[in-house]
Amino acid sequence: MTSSTDSSGLTQGEMIYEGKAKRLYNTDNPERTIIEYKDSFTAFNGEKRAEMSGKGRLNNLISSNIFEYLADNDVPLHYIERIDENRQLAVKVKIFPLEVVMRNITTGSLCKRLGVQEGLHLQRPLLEFYYKDDALGDPIVTEDHALLFGWATEEDLFQIKRITLRVNDLLRNLFSSLGIVLVDFKLEFGRDAAGNLLLSDEISPDTCRFWDSSTGDRLDKDRFRKDLGDVLGAYEEIWRRLSERKK
Ligand code: UDP
Repeated sequence: MTSSTDSSGLTQGEMIYEGKAKRLYNTDNPERTIIEYKDSFTAFNGEKRAEMSGKGRLNNLISSNIFEYLADNDVPLHYIERIDENRQLAVKVKIFPLEVVMRNITTGSLCKRLGVQEGLHLQRPLLEFYYKDDALGDPIVTEDHALLFGWATEEDLFQIKRITLRVNDLLRNLFSSLGIVLVDFKLEFGRDAAGNLLLSDEISPDTCRFWDSSTGDRLDKDRFRKDLGDVLGAYEEIWRRLSERKK
């Protein structure tokens, strides 16, 4: 399939990668890629799956909106623009094989792994690295693993940590103004052809935990993971609050 994009004039070429939630396509510019958000949900390393019509659109709208807020605050991004309901245009990057998780409140795998109490407000943000490998179930790793196995350099890790802390500050402020607590989130980073280190992938209710400040309601993928119901209603609510925000 080839189709012209609205504003960039680039033509979508062959699919180069299909992940659990997104498809990536070549364009006629080798330094650009088109990202298409799918309607699929997966959790527990792909063991639990579902399709929900409209989920790709919501994550594309939410992720684009958040990236635009971060761009306004000078965070270096692969995101260029939203093309239409399901697609974004981005700089083509080579992704570091690391998932960078930042936590403000304890929950999820942290509590399971270490037996610490849920819902503790951490004195400062906690940063963790996971090695991106589905076959291994994305194991938690240290910076030393990343250095010794060549997944990133010392300078890369320094930049990744600096940007992640800044994104946490920016997103906590943004979501707090929308009546939402940013509990934790996952980021991915890549490097473009010119060597720039860029925040990549997506930022959405699939990759963040959002708790309503007054009710404590879960407004993220935990509704799917834990069968809490009305999954898309929660994503709609995040989008409603973001899109009504006064800039
Ligand atoms: N996360 C993600 N992708 C993953 C693993 C985690 O986006 O493959 C996000 C998750 O949505 C949460 C944060 O990273 O916002 C921390 O997740 P955790 O380690 O607690 O894992 P989980 O309990 O989701 O397995």
